Amino acid sequence: MTRTVGIVGAGAAGVGAAYAFRDSDVDVTIFEKSRGVCGRAATRRRNDCRYDHGANYLKDADERTVELVEELGDDGLVAFDDPVWTFDAGGEVTESDRDPETKYTWEDGITQLAERLLARTDATVHRETRIERIQRGSGREHVDEDASGDRWYLVAADGEAHGPFDAVVLTPPAPQTAALLTETKWHSEHLPALREVVGAVRYRTVRSVMLHYPFEVDVPYYALVNTDGEHDIGWLSREECKRGHVPAGESLLVVQMAPHWSEEHYDDPLEETAETVAGKVAELVGDDRLAEFDWSDDQGWRYAQPNSGANEEILRRGEDDGLFFAGDWVGGEGRVHLALWNGVEVGERISAAF
Ligand SMILES: Cc1cc2nc3c(=O)[nH]c(=O)nc-3n(C[C@H](O)[C@H](O)[C@H](O)COP(=O)(O)OP(=O)(O)OC[C@H]3O[C@@H](n4cnc5c(N)ncnc54)[C@H](O)[C@@H]3O)c2cc1C
Repeated sequence: MTRTVGIVGAGAAGVGAAYAFRDSDVDVTIFEKSRGVCGRAATRRRNDCRYDHGANYLKDADERTVELVEELGDDGLVAFDDPVWTFDAGGEVTESDRDPETKYTWEDGITQLAERLLARTDATVHRETRIERIQRGSGREHVDEDASGDRWYLVAADGEAHGPFDAVVLTPPAPQTAALLTETKWHSEHLPALREVVGAVRYRTVRSVMLHYPFEVDVPYYALVNTDGEHDIGWLSREECKRGHVPAGESLLVVQMAPHWSEEHYDDPLEETAETVAGKVAELVGDDRLAEFDWSDDQGWRYAQPNSGANEEILRRGEDDGLFFAGDWVGGEGRVHLALWNGVEVGERISAAF
């Protein structure tokens, strides 16, 4: 009998889990609440520009990541090594003395990571499908009312029960996974501890503000990062350093505001926020022209990056029953490659168990 796996979320972790089954006959289905794939590694298009407004790039963290990127093909691949400099609370900029690392994205944006990985699998992806509940069932007909049975169903917002699955992988950020666990019908002694460890993971909030200029910003760095966490700006980068993202002679800055600032101004209207942010950018970069942009955009990331991980021994207690977790929060660091490899490893564990 063909084994079935249901994955909630098509971010790096969910797609990584699906990728682990690429050479098997396991039937994999992914459910993603948004229209696009790749989650917080997100790309938007506007006015001939493309910009990665969540994760900025995938870094050449280790050999397996570099090999994987190469495997995904070099058409449209953007590998760049422009430097990241630092600044402190007072806005003093310091040239980095570290060797610049290679950073990857694609001309079509960082979402290509998920698109290309998925293209190498037979996984079915249901987009715009939010899973609201997970439940045990027998798999004979429909979800059993008493949640008995030894297979899983994923119940979507429209009430449809997808399944049955032999294993499910939950990959939303921990607070959203915790919400799913609250709605889980599963007679297991492990459920209370799982709810507790997942629910305890806290995230930093980031508001990304994009500022476009009809001229090129003339600085020697790709990005500036605040190292003491005390400045209102956490990160500022030039999207034009990525081939194919910004037309020649223009500049598009991605400004990620620090968590303390982002929480306070999360719901402020874009118009006033962009002006305030542009003023701070002009001062930090030391270029008055930057106070005036010609268009702006933004994205709030309530759960941008986890502050800590979750106890893995407890997280794995559901695995005998086919309940798995993956994502950046499992390891406790918000990095695309870590989420991706965590997903791959979970997929490999499920494969081994089948
Ligand atoms: C502003 C910002 C900047 C960053 N910069 C970098 C960087 O430069 N480099 C780097 O390596 N990392 C960076 N990160 C972190 C990186 O983006 C994340 O660590 C990584 O993308 C997490 O992947 P994931 O698969 O664990 O989660 P996600 O990408 O969050 O994927 C989870 C998916 O689940 C979906 N989902 C949630 N709930 C449901 C549901 N109920 N039903 C169906 N689908 C659901 C979501 O829509 C999402 O697509 C940044 C993040 C942010 C926000």
